Amino acid sequence: MNRNSLRHRVTFFYVALLAVALLTFSVAVYLGVRAFITRSLEHSLSMNASTILTDYIKPLDSKGSAWFQNEMSESYPTGVSDTFVRVSRGQEVLYETGEMRGLPISASALASAGDADTSGEVNRTYTKSGQEILTYTLLYRQPQGDPIVIETGATTEPIRHVLRSLFLILLTGTPIILIAAALGGYVLMAHALRPVETLTEQAERVGREDLGERLPVIPSGDELERLSLALNRMIERLEETVAHNRRFSADASHELRTPLTIIRGELEVVMQTPMLSPALIEGIGSALEESDRMSHIVESLMTISRLEGGSEQMAMMPVDLIALATETLDHMSLLAEEKEIKLTCATSGSIYVMGDAMRLKQVVANLLDNAIKYTPANGSVAMSIAAEGSLAALEVSDTGIGIPVDALPLVFERFFRADKTRSRGSGGIGLGLAIVKSICIAHHGTVTVSSIEGHGTTLRVELPLLHEWTALKTAEQVSVVTTHHVESLPERKSSVKERHPVIGTH
Ligand code: ADP
Repeated sequence: MNRNSLRHRVTFFYVALLAVALLTFSVAVYLGVRAFITRSLEHSLSMNASTILTDYIKPLDSKGSAWFQNEMSESYPTGVSDTFVRVSRGQEVLYETGEMRGLPISASALASAGDADTSGEVNRTYTKSGQEILTYTLLYRQPQGDPIVIETGATTEPIRHVLRSLFLILLTGTPIILIAAALGGYVLMAHALRPVETLTEQAERVGREDLGERLPVIPSGDELERLSLALNRMIERLEETVAHNRRFSADASHELRTPLTIIRGELEVVMQTPMLSPALIEGIGSALEESDRMSHIVESLMTISRLEGGSEQMAMMPVDLIALATETLDHMSLLAEEKEIKLTCATSGSIYVMGDAMRLKQVVANLLDNAIKYTPANGSVAMSIAAEGSLAALEVSDTGIGIPVDALPLVFERFFRADKTRSRGSGGIGLGLAIVKSICIAHHGTVTVSSIEGHGTTLRVELPLLHEWTALKTAEQVSVVTTHHVESLPERKSSVKERHPVIGTH
């Protein structure tokens, strides 16, 4: 699980934002509900007091205290509600409810708050057990006698009960919403990013073999479509540049071929001239050697350009890789003997691949030549070939000088030589492995290198087995048909061809 992935980051930020929003919302709801129900309770207490005043106190003188007692006990019975009522005149209590429901406290147990100062106000009092009670006092001044104090009160327990329930709902609801949002967001992001995944996978493949493949374009009209179209145009431009470079390299080597042959011919003619001074003979010999070297470079460059450009006509046929490799090894044994290097191949039997025998021989020869070249006397070079799954794997290992770690990714580059002095001294031009790579790619194969400096090097070539080749070709045809479908998009160049991706790295 990649924590830095866009999917993770977007989901995280989205959930964090939602958490802040939910928290703010919950606090606002809690405070709002608390204020609302407290105000409602206060309002109902003041309404009760007003009702008592207008309905029962004002007609008290005319209707008598028996009527008053009767009406009050009917309207405000004891112990059936969460509220209490007390009506008093001076020290005389005209009416009071008994104990409140669910709270064994009588109105008389509460200190009277009724005086002129607190009239029309809501007060908070607390019982001994800490129970909060809201009281509302209304003072009624009569023309004669002491003023009448009407007290209505209620416990805040129902408010606390509602608020506790609300708090619990918010406390459990918020995490549930957050978890659901996180999961939902994660799934949605996966869905939204699927085209990006496809683009990434396809982009990884583009350029492994050649730049012929294009990214899939989903005509959704969104940013992703624009991105894939832009990337495709970029690949197209890259492809044109690469093709231009290849053409240049192919043309240059082709043009150099003829003058080089002429120079060589002329030098050979001059060499035949009698009475040449030894210094001249040496000079001409050296010039001939260099022209040979140049011819070799030009030929190698042409081979690579043709292989990479796909213009190389290869005679593809079923080839027994073991027979071909052991035969090449036999040819190289003299070279190994000269350097007192032990050259071995423990493989027997037959492993068939589809390929151009001459080119495949060139691969084996280049690998063995390098192994012998870069292995000091008394070292050993071992070759092995095995079928591994759908691949034929050919390995050439030596006990030679090895390759520095930082040079490893570059050994397949043209003209790269890890140790220029030593390589040039042994005739190396830095094109052998570039040719091997081009041939492998042309055979839908890979070549990889592993090495420990000072201990030895192993080069491994993997080629599809014969039966795999048929499957590969069928898949390639299907891929080309699919490509034609995609090519109907306006931005797609009709000349672009799709190729099956090469497995692995070079
Ligand atoms: P060259 O003609 O110089 O041998 P190659 O393309 O065949 O060119 O190889 C590129 C470079 O990789 C060589 O110059 C050498 O430094 C390194 N190299 C290749 N094979 C081996 C090997 N078996 N052992 C050590 N170094 C090697």
